[in-house]
Amino acid sequence: MSRLFVSDVHLDASAPDATEQFIDFLRTRAAGTEALYILGDLFEVWVGDDDPSTEKGRILTALHELTATGVAGFVIHGNRDFLLGRTFCDRTGFRLLPDPVVMELDGERVLVTHGDALCTGDFAYQELRSTVRTADWQRRFLSLPFEVRDRFASQARAGSKAHNARMAPSIQDVDPDAVTLAYRTARVTRIIHGHTHRPGVHDTVVDDVNVQRIVLGAWYEEGSYLVYENGQYALKTLPRGA
Ligand code: MN
Repeated sequence: MSRLFVSDVHLDASAPDATEQFIDFLRTRAAGTEALYILGDLFEVWVGDDDPSTEKGRILTALHELTATGVAGFVIHGNRDFLLGRTFCDRTGFRLLPDPVVMELDGERVLVTHGDALCTGDFAYQELRSTVRTADWQRRFLSLPFEVRDRFASQARAGSKAHNARMAPSIQDVDPDAVTLAYRTARVTRIIHGHTHRPGVHDTVVDDVNVQRIVLGAWYEEGSYLVYENGQYALKTLPRGA
């Protein structure tokens, strides 16, 4: 049986084609697999499990339909949807995993993460991240009315767009030293992540050991997912409208 990984689907009401493609992906490719891992930024924005939008409700229903058939569902927080909480899990049957998490797949230790924590060259973002990931900040933020949180998120996204536009491309990617450190400290031979929207497979050697980093792509223009089956990994794209 296979396990699937996706990341950065960035589901949003402004991109209905991507939503349809993802729901179709859940009903076809993900159906009958052992597990689906969502490595963050499933949603373009998620400011609380009390989101009343019917479009998000449809996606939650589709996720629940998948886990109800026996497919194990796991989700990791991304930088856009780190407020996915207990109610989301209850409604979908998905379980939250910590970021990063080390899993053992057929005897191999694999580090699975959203990937933003590896972008250590972006100091401003890392500072923001350490603030908004505290329980105290989240408690205070979630106590605000939904509309206020939603407006705050729109402003934050505009600010982040301007910040990224000013930033060198190498800073927007993972930091090579942070990646090496992650291989060493987690004692893994493989890292799977998303976030950078730069799908690819990177083979290298750390401390005389062959290691591999697999980067999932975003779903803005086409679908991207990783299949693990019989000890083999295959990174795939799904053309839109196919
Ligand atoms: Mn991200």
